[in-house]
Amino acid sequence: MKFKLYILFYLILFLVRRDHRKSKSHLDRVKYRRLKLLLRHLKSSPFYKHYASQNSLEAFPVMKKELFMQNFNDINTRGIKKADALKLALEAEEIRDFSKTLNGIIVGLSTGTSGNKGLFLVGEKERAKWVAAIIHRVIGIKIRPKKIAFFLRANSKLYESANSRLLQFNFFDLMNDHDSNFKRLITLNADILVAQPSALLKIALSFTESKKTPTFEKVISVAEVLNDTDRVYLEKVFKLTLSEVYQCTEGFLACSCKYGKLHFNEDYLIIEKEYIDKEHKRYFPVITDLYREIQPIIRYKLDDILVEGGVCKCGSRFEVIDRIEGRADDIIRLTDKLGKMTDIFPDYFSRAITIASDEITDYILSQTDKNLLEIYINNGSEMNQQKVKDNITELLSKFNIGPVEIHFTSKKATDQHGKLRRITNEYYKRVQDNRNR
Ligand SMILES: [Zn+2]
Repeated sequence: MKFKLYILFYLILFLVRRDHRKSKSHLDRVKYRRLKLLLRHLKSSPFYKHYASQNSLEAFPVMKKELFMQNFNDINTRGIKKADALKLALEAEEIRDFSKTLNGIIVGLSTGTSGNKGLFLVGEKERAKWVAAIIHRVIGIKIRPKKIAFFLRANSKLYESANSRLLQFNFFDLMNDHDSNFKRLITLNADILVAQPSALLKIALSFTESKKTPTFEKVISVAEVLNDTDRVYLEKVFKLTLSEVYQCTEGFLACSCKYGKLHFNEDYLIIEKEYIDKEHKRYFPVITDLYREIQPIIRYKLDDILVEGGVCKCGSRFEVIDRIEGRADDIIRLTDKLGKMTDIFPDYFSRAITIASDEITDYILSQTDKNLLEIYINNGSEMNQQKVKDNITELLSKFNIGPVEIHFTSKKATDQHGKLRRITNEYYKRVQDNRNR
């Protein structure tokens, strides 16, 4: 009961405050007040208490996942040991039962791109706030009960906790066979479908092949980069504007508005930007969550390459993300004619491939060696391959890159966690892994 009251409390708070409509200075004042409360709370974190006494966010170190995990025991404010949390999370994955908690605190496990697992802790109040924010910003508030089909690699009490008379979450395990998942989805007749783009693509294909008509009122893309080609295809099959939620271990960060633009949840997040390409507005976000108290997220740097957006027509003042381009280790690194290492962002390659032909709706490009790019395209006719090759050669010449081999493959690969990443750098990952060994 207490949990549902918390949800109601946050929901009312969001509805009454309407922070997204207020001026920037108002937002800054709200955040500053909240930050002061958080700093007071951080005195229970052995890792952060020293920084908290300095009363300024700038005093805190920028946190990276490795450092965060190394200091897990000292960062959290409840004295939870990493070994205990990890044991609980791994057992849950093993037996696919995600209902257990550590004294009411949910432990979640995320797969890192470089194989390092992340562990997250979420308390009851934090969970309630998450549910309220999802209802307020993604699902919408309506009296009619809604069925939500949620495709996930691993369920979590976080999602189940949102179950109520008005919202029924149905978990679909991505580890299960796709055909049986699809059959169940049809029987369920859900109002809202939530899944990562690669799963949405499979579902869309099943709808097309079975000649069934999808009737979802909302389809929400989560967890992977959603590129324009996939968005167009999915919107055509589902006959709606796709909603997008940018969420990771570090919380519910942003969601799309009615114009399809992603807005950061700036009423409870402080976003700092570490620019990597200021001219083209690319940056890594460094986030501080003002409400996470059990496992504080302070100046936490994410590996995602974001592109700044401008002002949005919807009227929300919350920071706009034009697009999420990929992760830091998806950047293609090649040597230019002067021997200098040059970074080329994933987006350039996506564009070079997709503009080659309308027949190309599915593709993967991976740098597999120092000067080698391997490409998969769904319609690999000689003509399409040649066009793709020409576009990429032209792109590389703009960056003054030296000789690069381009190979086509008929094999479509996903990463080690089954996630679809259209542009990846396997070579660089290998080099880094060897270095870390
Ligand atoms: Zn907007």
